[in-house]
Amino acid sequence: MTNPQLVEQTREGSVLVLTINNPPVNAFSPGVPEGLKAGLDAAAVDDTIEAVILIGGGRTFVAGADIKTFNLPRDQAPDLRGTVEKLDAFPKPTVAALHGTALGGGLELALACTYRVAVGGARLGLPEVKLGVLPGAGGTQRLPRVVGVAKALSMMLSGSLIGAAEAKDIGLVDELIAGDLLSGAVEFARTHATIRPLPRVSERTLTDSSPDVTPEAFQAAREAIKRTHRGQLSPSLIIDLAELAATRPFQEGWQAEAVKFMEARESPQSRGLRHIFFAERESARVPGLAKDTTTTTIRRVGVIGAGTMGGGIAMNFLNVGIPVTIVETGQEALDRGLGLIRRNYESSAKKGRISAEDVDTRLGLLTPSLDLADLKDADLIIEAVFESMAVKKDIFTRLDAVAGPDAILATNTSTLDVNEIAAVTSRPQQVIGLHFFSPANVMKLVEIVRADRTSDSVLATSMAVAKQIGKVGVVVGVCDGFVGNRMVHRYGEEARQLVEEGAAPGDVDAAMNALGLPMGPFQMTDMAGLDIGHAIRVHRAQQRGEPEPDGWLDRVVKTGRKGQKTGGGIYDYDENRRPRPNADVQALIDAYRAEKGVTPRELTQDEITRRLTATLVNEGARILDEGIAARAGDIDVIYIYGYGFPAYRGGPMHYASEQGLQGVVDDLKRYGGKAPAPLLERLAAEGKTFADWEKEPRS
Ligand code: NAD
Repeated sequence: MTNPQLVEQTREGSVLVLTINNPPVNAFSPGVPEGLKAGLDAAAVDDTIEAVILIGGGRTFVAGADIKTFNLPRDQAPDLRGTVEKLDAFPKPTVAALHGTALGGGLELALACTYRVAVGGARLGLPEVKLGVLPGAGGTQRLPRVVGVAKALSMMLSGSLIGAAEAKDIGLVDELIAGDLLSGAVEFARTHATIRPLPRVSERTLTDSSPDVTPEAFQAAREAIKRTHRGQLSPSLIIDLAELAATRPFQEGWQAEAVKFMEARESPQSRGLRHIFFAERESARVPGLAKDTTTTTIRRVGVIGAGTMGGGIAMNFLNVGIPVTIVETGQEALDRGLGLIRRNYESSAKKGRISAEDVDTRLGLLTPSLDLADLKDADLIIEAVFESMAVKKDIFTRLDAVAGPDAILATNTSTLDVNEIAAVTSRPQQVIGLHFFSPANVMKLVEIVRADRTSDSVLATSMAVAKQIGKVGVVVGVCDGFVGNRMVHRYGEEARQLVEEGAAPGDVDAAMNALGLPMGPFQMTDMAGLDIGHAIRVHRAQQRGEPEPDGWLDRVVKTGRKGQKTGGGIYDYDENRRPRPNADVQALIDAYRAEKGVTPRELTQDEITRRLTATLVNEGARILDEGIAARAGDIDVIYIYGYGFPAYRGGPMHYASEQGLQGVVDDLKRYGGKAPAPLLERLAAEGKTFADWEKEPRS
């Protein structure tokens, strides 16, 4: 595996320059450690060399470990810790010269050098927490010694990057280089390195007088992550290690870090987060869509409907400088919609997220209108009017007459048949679903609904647009509810059933909260509005010629309790919007059970969690079998970004694969005798996972 060419050795007078050339991001993959060690060995024995510089070739310093090598046994994985140890013990000054991103293992290498210099545009960070692990090559021990515990914890727990200027301010970078990085670093090495040798980072100590190394400070950090990183393992390990860095000799922390790194790496949480990391990237690749499919540039967007969704959708484009024309039926609705957008921006400005100037720029890009014909110049038009097929067909018929010939016509429908909508136009190949989630300016997910006749170019352009506005776009097929809402519909049914059998709504939500979802099914229902779900159930029953639905939740709606918007629904809410059980709702549920002859029984949290996740996974398996989603990972990405399923569980499909699919099948049969989806049953019988299914050949 040795490939010393990945690290080039050149001389600049008395300085040896080690340039890491492993494009595109100089990942720390096999060959890099060998090359670095060879360079250090050469420099150690050469008396004419006074200092060594580490620098990245191309566009960046080392942007981290190669995540694909994560699962390799330690003796085959690139030896980052060994390289760092060698750097630390190296007898001559070393300078890390940073540009691009010095991330993860890259920053750990730099921290093991005597000095760090950087260009102004460089960015530095330890993002390991995002993959459920921790800096495992000295980062947890060196960063606190360099920048102090508070700053080190904030960087390691958030995983966010900081800029070079901030890095200089906090002492992580010793000098900012204005011109050419290499020349500046050589100059720095020649002057500072030889005349002002610093102690090694590993030899520095954090004194007890520093305010952020008290036991209370670490206790406060542990309390804080209960809120910010609820249920997660690696943040607490990071705090333990930072405490060792602050209070114990370097070697002790360095050894403990290796142990805790392995613990984190082997955890289901890290496997879940790594699965999502790859699934998200994979979801951008659409099977059958050629890489070189032509896309069109979206210069102007039209939005129809300035309600809950339309306003939020418009903001996404305004935020990235794309002008939007928004059309309503009446002045009053238009004013209401614009007012909402303005207030949203003003509140962001008040919180310091954007400047007052940004507010003006963004609102300046928005053109209100009452005339559909004003959308004639839009390259992309997104309809977000009432969820009614008749209204949507009317809009698309009129749109077809006014929109430019190449314009993409998109609908934000949550449930309606996009093929049927496309069919009223003369250009069904230009029609697509763009299903945003509420609040549309915040939620990262867009389901991109590919209708039967949607052209490849329209699909590819839609994917590119989603990326441009900072969303995660996942391609799905046409069916009632697409992927997310179709699964959540079954999940809601099961949640109501659990209550019917004896659970309190609060028990059901608590079980999902314990799994890591910020909201359980009933908290979600109260937020979305009970009337919305009820209307959908009524509509479905009508379509199927069934009697009007009369479950306990339908009865709650009829008492006028529609959720948070009416001050209460399944729960009451205090002034902090914390839910409390409502006695009338409980009495209604009790009466309902009595009427149905149900003797309520106690349901354990385990049963509740199993039944709800099994229901999601069962519907997910049907969705895969029907080709509505291309990969189980796509479903996981949808559930994480659209429904708050915890990323550290890897999404419902990955979670089920981790638990074993046979267990899911057994749960479905044991509780309520539900038929497992044929695909789920087959995979379970064959001892396979959804990841295995993805590798099976398709006919
Ligand atoms: P809404 O009632 O808040 O807004 C709809 C707006 O469309 C209203 O302001 C109405 O005046 C306007 N409108 C109606 N007919 C129009 C016409 N002919 N021309 C121009 N404007 C017209 O509804 P919403 O919640 O924003 O939902 C809009 C669409 O988005 C629906 O298809 C819905 O299913 C979908 N959706 C909603 C959510 C959600 O959580 N609210 C989430 C995803 C998708």
